Amino acid sequence: MGDNVLTNDEIVLGLPLYQIIDIHRTAGEVRISARYSGPKSCPHCHSEHQRSKGWYQRVVRHENLGLRHSRLEVAARKWLCLHCGRQFRQRLPGILPGQHATEPFREAIYRQHLDGINRSRLGRRESIGALPSSATSVMD
Ligand SMILES: [Zn+2]
Repeated sequence: MGDNVLTNDEIVLGLPLYQIIDIHRTAGEVRISARYSGPKSCPHCHSEHQRSKGWYQRVVRHENLGLRHSRLEVAARKWLCLHCGRQFRQRLPGILPGQHATEPFREAIYRQHLDGINRSRLGRRESIGALPSSATSVMD
């Protein structure tokens, strides 16, 4: 991947370092299944020598595609660092730990709120109340 060259997946998602596996419609929303495809350096010691400890999945709300709500399902690995011996979950660009929505979605909501749309209306319009209470699940 060269500098400043966006892949089609980046254009669709608006986020770097994901590979889209599937896009389909379900329950009135667009589901984008993707896999993290970026580097995997250890957050503790920055080593790039890891052994996979299985996969985990995040399901988070993502930016609307037109008027359709979208949800992003990301499969990412859990790693054991062979240098420092610590385990870690792959950090995902644009999806902060513990959040139920991507940063672009949160940014979009924040902007609409700044534009004067109140929270309850935003909540109804974006179905935010329908976000899963736990967006993190382990699929060992
Ligand atoms: Zn390490």
